[in-house]
Order: sequence, then structure tokens, then C-alpha cells
Amino acid sequence: MIVKKNDKYAVECQVKMAADCLQTGEYCDEEEEAQEWVERECWIFSGEGWICTQCNEHIMENLGKMRHDREY
Ligand SMILES: [Zn+2]
Repeated sequence: MIVKKNDKYAVECQVKMAADCLQTGEYCDEEEEAQEWVERECWIFSGEGWICTQCNEHIMENLGKMRHDREY
């Protein structure tokens, strides 16, 4: 879930479901910094990995729709 590029680290979005998925957080010098960055940006920790805010919105919308379909 951490990707490394040019000696910099970024947290990768676990699901990449949204069309406008951020894919990765900001690239930082340290893995810890990269993780702190996504925490600050309110990415959601799923237990296995991080889900970016765009994908989280996408998932929430789908859940809302599913609930809606069941009710009517
Ligand atoms: Zn994403």
C-alpha cells in the first residue's frame, strides 16, 4: 500500500474505484510522513489499506443507492 518512486514514498489508494480516484497521496521522504499526509487528508483506513476521499465518497454513494433500492 506504500509505493516508492524516486526515493520518495506515498500511500496508494487501496480500491481505486472512483473515476477521479487520487491513486496515491503526496510523495514524501519518509513512509511515516506519507501516512501522516493521508491521515490529515482524511483518507479512510480500511484495516488493510487506505481509501482515498474520492473513493470513499464513491463507496458511500453506492451504499446509499443500495439502501434506496431496497426500501422502494
Ligand atoms: Zn481512490
